[in-house]
Amino acid sequence: MIIPKAEKLSASQLQELESIVSEFKCTVLEIEGHNQCVYAILGDETHALMFKRIAGLSYIRKVNAIESPYKLMDRRSALADHQIKIGQRVVGGDAPFIIGGPCTIDPNSPNLFIETAHALKEAGVDALRGGVWKPRTNPYSYQGDNNAIEIILRAREETGLPIDIEVMDSEQLKIALDAKVDILQVGTRNALNYSLLKEIGRKSAGTESAILLKRGRHVASPDEFIAASEYLVAEGNPNVMLCPRGTTPALDGYRNHPDESITPLLKNKTWAPVVVDPSHSVGHAQFVHSCSLASIAYGADGLCIESHIDPPKGIGDDPKQAITPDKMKELIVTCQEMWKNRYLP
Ligand code: PEP
Ligand code: MN
Repeated sequence: MIIPKAEKLSASQLQELESIVSEFKCTVLEIEGHNQCVYAILGDETHALMFKRIAGLSYIRKVNAIESPYKLMDRRSALADHQIKIGQRVVGGDAPFIIGGPCTIDPNSPNLFIETAHALKEAGVDALRGGVWKPRTNPYSYQGDNNAIEIILRAREETGLPIDIEVMDSEQLKIALDAKVDILQVGTRNALNYSLLKEIGRKSAGTESAILLKRGRHVASPDEFIAASEYLVAEGNPNVMLCPRGTTPALDGYRNHPDESITPLLKNKTWAPVVVDPSHSVGHAQFVHSCSLASIAYGADGLCIESHIDPPKGIGDDPKQAITPDKMKELIVTCQEMWKNRYLP
């Protein structure tokens, strides 16, 4: 990994760097952060001579090679100071970053979504979620609707809140990127779909869109989870957040096996913010609050929580697992208190 002295290399400097690494059969990837570009060397980057030559260039501040299966996501990488800005907030700044909203946008009841969005803004969320396209277990369940994106875009305009939408294929990704969706969510079913991860990383590189990568529900190990996120960054988008959301088999009584406890492990291995999803983890509205508090106690930087103004009128997961905006307000206050007292190893 290479850090230049200036914010970015000039075209001729980049060309010189590329020509050096190509002698060693490597390539250079520019990764654009908010304040600083860093340059990853892709290929076998262990050639001592290559390193010596790069370190000798007058415009290079630092070159570091780390032995890691995920050299960009590793907390020792040059991205360690990278901050992810979404809307007005830095994720993992001075309070938990809260994403809230319905599981699914009901295109037949746009007002329910818009009213939920306003109530959640009032409750203090930092970003609004809403499923436009849904990965449903049953092919006959509601699958989503391209038109639903207009509803969440209207909610963004009216509330000023950034928005989070799950994308599952190239067409959805294009629609989401054209709409400048703030957070592209990769769901648990696609968490290890490497070609989709590469495409999302590549097409969102250089944009303002961040990516919320859920953990594969079939107990992806922390290393497997982080390695999947490496695909996104290695294609050029460093704005990646890791989202534990429960694994299978479920703990009896919950929807999944709650896994907020992997947060310290993830934070020990990578620099990426951890945003836990308690809703899919426990799967019942009444347990979401305690799982949220536990997540913050474990050091999570944020939460992604399903919330609906009138859960029984929702579709998808909302009748079962969405909390109301009133409950969200209480939850945010108690999580902020917990945040001040959390123990970070
Ligand atoms: C969702 O966020 O509504 C969703 C489908 O999540 P997951 O991929 O974690 O099941
Ligand atoms: Mn859901």
